[in-house]
Amino acid sequence: MIAKMAGAKPKVAVVGAGPGGIAMGIQLAQGGYDFTIFDRGDGFGGTWRNNTYPGAACDVPSHFYSYS
Ligand SMILES: Cc1cc2nc3c(=O)[nH]c(=O)nc-3n(C[C@H](O)[C@H](O)[C@H](O)COP(=O)(O)OP(=O)(O)OC[C@H]3O[C@@H](n4cnc5c(N)ncnc54)[C@H](O)[C@@H]3O)c2cc1C
Repeated sequence: MIAKMAGAKPKVAVVGAGPGGIAMGIQLAQGGYDFTIFDRGDGFGGTWRNNTYPGAACDVPSHFYSYS
């Protein structure tokens, strides 16, 4: 059931602290929402935090991650 709250922004739960959850958190913060990000792990980063990929590299010089 979705409850509509007149005039009030809902509190938001984000499940997952990977790049998707972090991006959602940024958007919610910019929108002035009260939110909490939950993850079954103990930190942020998702796949990139939970695993290591020896030899993984970017084939072009890049210093940032681009959402695609
Ligand atoms: C080697 C490699 C290269 C890649 N290269 C690219 C790339 O160039 N560009 C690109 O866009 N993507 C790439 N990806 C895909 C990669 O999945 C994304 O970069 C990114 O990690 C996706 O973010 P996400 O937040 O959707 O998922 P994830 O990073 O998987 O994060 C999901 C999080 O949710 C948590 N979670 C899941 N279920 C629950 C639950 N029930 N309760 C609580 N927490 C939960 C997990 O613990 C995890 O921390 C690559 C992946 C790999 C492995």
